[in-house]
Amino acid sequence: MDLNLPVPRVALAIPAHPDDAEFGCGGTFAKWAAAGCRIHHLVCTDGSKGTWDPKQDVAELVTVRQDEQRAASHALGGAGDVVFLGWPDGELDAGVRQRWQVAYWIRRLRPDVVLGHDPWRRYRLHPDHRAAGFLLTDAVVAARDPHFFPEQGEPPHRPGVVLLWEAEEPDHVEDITAHFDAKIEALLAHRSQYRSTMRIEDAASGEEVAAFRRRVAEWAADQGANAGVALAERFKAITQV
Ligand SMILES: [Zn+2]
Repeated sequence: MDLNLPVPRVALAIPAHPDDAEFGCGGTFAKWAAAGCRIHHLVCTDGSKGTWDPKQDVAELVTVRQDEQRAASHALGGAGDVVFLGWPDGELDAGVRQRWQVAYWIRRLRPDVVLGHDPWRRYRLHPDHRAAGFLLTDAVVAARDPHFFPEQGEPPHRPGVVLLWEAEEPDHVEDITAHFDAKIEALLAHRSQYRSTMRIEDAASGEEVAAFRRRVAEWAADQGANAGVALAERFKAITQV
């Protein structure tokens, strides 16, 4: 298990939905942002399926989740861009149009490290997580070579490292022990997800929030166990980009 990349200058997370990046790399982003890294989010879908309430106004939910994602980036210490591609939640394709968009943002933001879903994770049910993973890896290839999408008018860009969270074969650990609070704060910025994702029925219930925090802490302890790190986020690192 490799431990801790050098702090990058620029990092870009490419989650399928608002909140995925905070679960996958929130602690890593908080740590890097505190050390001067510019952290960006590129969210593939509009998050419009993210509720258990059949009466929810979907257009309103999309706006709310965008605000929450910006607040989460802020909680991580980010002053970078939060970009929404706006594809319908649950229907994300890793097609050429989507690849064009993601490659454009990689060329434009020029991240040293790109982070996202591992598309090769077995038995993964959510189609958007799979699609977002393939979209990321396909777009990294397109962004680095000049004959892909030359009409974009942006120079090619080759990130140094790709980190995939929820990895099938993790081989890299980031120590987030000192930045765990920021990860929790960023996750809690996604208030619309309290009920469906965080098992928080009543936002005023300190007990439910504490239980959520404990569950995330147990997960982070497990992620760091093999590396001798108290609280961690674990990834597959692709260094041959
Ligand atoms: Zn998701």
